Amino acid sequence: MSEIQPSLNVLRKVFGYEQFRGVQSDIIDTVVSGQNALVLMPTGGGKSLCYQIPSLVRSGVGIVISPLIALMKDQVDALDELGVRAGFINSSLSSEAYGQVMQQLRAGELDLLYLAPERFSQSGTLALLESLDIALFAIDEAHCVSQWGHDFRSDYLSLSLLQERFPHVPRIALTATADVATREEIASRLGLQDAPHFVSGFDRPNIQYRITQKRNARQQLLAFIRREHPDDAGIIYCMSRRKTEEVAAWLQQQGFDALPYHAGLSSDLRMFNQQRFLREDGVIIVATIAFGMGIDKPDVRFIVHLDLPKSVESYYQETGRAGRDGQAATAWMVYGLQDVIKLRQMLDSSQGNEQFKRQEQIRLDAMLGLCEITSCRRQALRHYFGESAPDACGNCDTCLQPPPTWDGTEAARKALSAVYRAGQRFGVSYATEILLGVESERILSNGHHRVSTFGIGRELDKSQWQSVFRQLIAGGYLGADHQQFGALYLTEKARPVLRGEKELMMREDVKDVSRASSRKRA
Ligand code: ADP
Ligand code: ZN
Repeated sequence: MSEIQPSLNVLRKVFGYEQFRGVQSDIIDTVVSGQNALVLMPTGGGKSLCYQIPSLVRSGVGIVISPLIALMKDQVDALDELGVRAGFINSSLSSEAYGQVMQQLRAGELDLLYLAPERFSQSGTLALLESLDIALFAIDEAHCVSQWGHDFRSDYLSLSLLQERFPHVPRIALTATADVATREEIASRLGLQDAPHFVSGFDRPNIQYRITQKRNARQQLLAFIRREHPDDAGIIYCMSRRKTEEVAAWLQQQGFDALPYHAGLSSDLRMFNQQRFLREDGVIIVATIAFGMGIDKPDVRFIVHLDLPKSVESYYQETGRAGRDGQAATAWMVYGLQDVIKLRQMLDSSQGNEQFKRQEQIRLDAMLGLCEITSCRRQALRHYFGESAPDACGNCDTCLQPPPTWDGTEAARKALSAVYRAGQRFGVSYATEILLGVESERILSNGHHRVSTFGIGRELDKSQWQSVFRQLIAGGYLGADHQQFGALYLTEKARPVLRGEKELMMREDVKDVSRASSRKRA
């Protein structure tokens, strides 16, 4: 009989699964061998096993740091069912229960311990941990360590102690939501720069992505549903509460079973509409982003965005609610001039500080970049999350029906050189000023009116250059460093373009939109 690997054995004997999914086994091997790892997988991808199994295979207790206190007890109960010795420590624990966990810990009777992050700022915790045999540290929801992310938690900052105090204990950081910038911040704060980054599972091959210019949104929507999803369940996202009600009422008039959903409806009505959507066939929910959290309906056949989402993360998350059953589904969106202006205004008048607004602007630009690209949308989406992907998927609008383009090779080369000559330390608007030859104060004070790229781009206007930059960012030729206020830098992909070895086509039909996005608030 051949020897079965210990981790595969645990997968089968303890968890009752036959095979590892995707890169799970690579991740588990890495951690079991004592190395660190950074794991990016969407929700439901199977992250838990990546630290649970190594905790069982390695000697000592696996410490799982998670901000989701409400879920800890459920997780521990589920592990108990499987015969895994697990416990948790958080503020909800009675002193009696706490004492019991401590006793088990000291006696080496736990395989896994879930710990709330605020414990790390408390004096006794480190001393306690140092007295234990520890199998690994798993940092769940690792994006909480990032100030650039939306869920920043100051308690997570103290986790940078782990690398100093426990240099020989492997650390595995896991998250479902991290763009490249957040990922880099996680890596630097948790000391995982040299650790392998496992990015996987972001592709949803059965979802067809389509993004169109808005002309007459309602008629476009009607044509889309009638032609492709006349009897299907779907979700239509709108920016405002009022609009969800208007669109739902209008769809009802057209003979569809459409219901509104937003946080302003009474909870009874919300519950009722949600239940109908879940239980009946062919119900369409017209909703704000308030809808969807925790909704598990496998046969949602289409997701519509009637307004531009504010980030690629939102777009990915919302479209991801389609086709959970693996059958074909469509993510269909119309966007236009007004959307961009509205989002900009909302951003300008929002409460956040300047840095926050700037980050939101970069996110919005990335979303717009996804709309504007001429290449495969799926590739761009996966690229956004740091996952490599083939050039063309064959199942998105740009693959199926290539959009009209113009030859942007020369413009791209100029834009890339402008970024390079200015030292890769400035953002889009600065690079645009260089190209247009604007003698602004900051350009003069940096002496950049003397670089060779100054004023070489007068054939395009400001908004066209901004569209060029967005397309270069979306295409992965330029990166925007979020910790440096969006400073642009050249990626590996930029080289063949600069050397004249690669042509770059840009989208023809986006001029009005890019003009709106560059307009300052009056
Ligand atoms: P995540 O933490 O990434 O959101 P989970 O770890 O909760 O995902 O896993 C999602 C689901 O997939 C769970 O029900 C889990 O039991 C299941 N799962 C994970 N790995 C496997 C596997 N190798 N084989 C079968 N099911 C798996
Ligand atoms: Zn494609």
